[in-house]
Amino acid sequence: MSTSIDDMHQSVHIDDAYIYKPSRDFRFCLGDYITPESCTIKPVFVRRSSIESVQPSEAGVITSDETEDESSGPLNVVDISQVLRAPHTFEWTLLDISTWDTLEDEVDELKADNKVYVQWLDAERTRLSIDASRLVLGEKQPHGASILMIVVERAILSKKEHLKVLLNSDIAPSGPFSYQILRGLLKHAANLQEVVAILSKLVAEWKEGGVAAPECIDVHRSQKSRFELKRDFFQPAFNSSMLATSAPVMSAEKMASILRDEAMSNEEPEERFERIDFETDDFDFEDADDEKDPVIEKLKCATCDCTKNSELFELDDSWQCRDCLCKHIVDQIRAKCIPLEIPFVLGDGQSAYDILPAIIPLPLLNFYTKIAATESLANVDGGDIGECPSCKQLVHIDHNTNEFNTSSCYSCGIHWCPKCEREPHFPMTCSAFATWIGKWEKEYELHVLEKTEYLKRIQCACGYTMEVRDQASRAECGGCGRVFCPQNLAMLEVAYWSRDEMTGAAVRKLETSAVLPARCVESIVASKQIKKEFSDVCGEARQLRFSTSKKTEFEKAVRKLKSTYAGVEKLRDIRKTVLTIVENGLAYVYIEKKQEALALKPQLSKLMKQWLAIEAEIQHPRCDFPTRYEAIEKNLSKVLEQLKQINA
Ligand SMILES: [Zn+2]
Ligand SMILES: [Zn+2]
Ligand SMILES: [Zn+2]
Ligand SMILES: [Zn+2]
Repeated sequence: MSTSIDDMHQSVHIDDAYIYKPSRDFRFCLGDYITPESCTIKPVFVRRSSIESVQPSEAGVITSDETEDESSGPLNVVDISQVLRAPHTFEWTLLDISTWDTLEDEVDELKADNKVYVQWLDAERTRLSIDASRLVLGEKQPHGASILMIVVERAILSKKEHLKVLLNSDIAPSGPFSYQILRGLLKHAANLQEVVAILSKLVAEWKEGGVAAPECIDVHRSQKSRFELKRDFFQPAFNSSMLATSAPVMSAEKMASILRDEAMSNEEPEERFERIDFETDDFDFEDADDEKDPVIEKLKCATCDCTKNSELFELDDSWQCRDCLCKHIVDQIRAKCIPLEIPFVLGDGQSAYDILPAIIPLPLLNFYTKIAATESLANVDGGDIGECPSCKQLVHIDHNTNEFNTSSCYSCGIHWCPKCEREPHFPMTCSAFATWIGKWEKEYELHVLEKTEYLKRIQCACGYTMEVRDQASRAECGGCGRVFCPQNLAMLEVAYWSRDEMTGAAVRKLETSAVLPARCVESIVASKQIKKEFSDVCGEARQLRFSTSKKTEFEKAVRKLKSTYAGVEKLRDIRKTVLTIVENGLAYVYIEKKQEALALKPQLSKLMKQWLAIEAEIQHPRCDFPTRYEAIEKNLSKVLEQLKQINA
């Protein structure tokens, strides 16, 4: 006779430890851990020495050492509120596996199949994790973080062997989902492989069905990223490879293996803590019956006294339940107490890192993996892990070799400043560049070098306010993504993003009005931004660099010359380098107004003149052409040297 779980739920005779309750009772409501202290910006990483003792969660998350200023307190906390709010699925169900082969055999089959990454999580082999991301993605994203972890745990329910199956994914269900639905889906699975196949297909469907909202409608961000707004400026076609340092992709797998090794059980068996003897030889699966034998001590969580066996994890000196461990881990990550040090009892070759998917949702695990691997790498070579603004791959950024503060993504090729994620701007600091480009873009638009007389200050229906050139032909609202023409406010695209008032979810909407539904439009006089002697030369360099036709023309001419002049092909990258350095170098001189920088102004102007001569004769080189391009190469490296020195 098979007893359904719901029947047992109603029965008062069943030991509480084995009753499967609706997930709301014990699922992780991470939102509960969000304290008012957490701010709503994206995660900030602040490097500090690791905190010796774990901060109790009641005491708040702010730590301040005596040596530190009070005001620096909040900076020591990693803001993970966004991570905790990220879409995810973390749902359990229980499966009767009394008719299956032994779990060990099932696991061996899965391992032999080699499509998923399978690991036992404890010495007793009661817990198992299966990374099924590859099944969900195909081979499309070999470098990405895990998107589906399945954790499987043995449990005994009414004397029958059961499996507790956890679906842990950073993809949210695209429709209704609950533990009952999960149980229904897995009801007829005849072995572990089928469970894995069903769950990866389910998550793949969610992934297909989900529509990702652009970041512009994130209520916590006032604007799109620079890359989203100005993709062209990041392209390798317009950026010098001489000025960039290639950033190799840092695969999630590589980061995980760094952390796995750090948390590996490598103690000699005799050095381990003595195991606590509970005098119950079958405590992993069977609970003692209190009524028959009241003297036997029940296993319980050392923090909350929870006695659900299947929720307990064995540590060196105590047992802790999943909920308490999760809370503890959240506190530790927030306090940047990394790498996490939780003394799980491990088998040989097992790593505490691999137990985490059984306890915390994937978005938090992936976030932890990133910051902990970053910290670990920083200790090794001072490097850093950054995210490519375009393809979003994680990349290793080595600041020691990055003399121009510019990275180029090894995977997609774009160039960017890893500090501010804007386009390359050496020799300007990030803040100097922000000032400069703000002034520049108010005054000019790319390829339009006439001065702007008037700006339109427009407040969109979504509440976002922007200032645009009144003669611009296209603008996009930074709040909702409506695309319109600033000259006459005509809508250029119908779709935009909005938030559902009830759920807060991002929804795609269609604009019915033919003109931008602006709350307010005013014409304002464009203030004079940049001195003409600077803007003229910068504008010319900028226009040449970003003109696709001029670039193509030039490169064609270079190809024709390559059999006549040795090394002439170098001019393709020198062109991009000279034009970038003239523009950004003059901007630097203008913004910084330093004495030693001012001395560079005539040199930069000379470099530009030299370049224009090359550009003019490239179609029909005059005699001594090689002397001139060798001269410009020399002059360029001299200017670069000086800029590096001032910058150092
Ligand atoms: Zn507990
Ligand atoms: Zn990339
Ligand atoms: Zn920057
Ligand atoms: Zn808007």
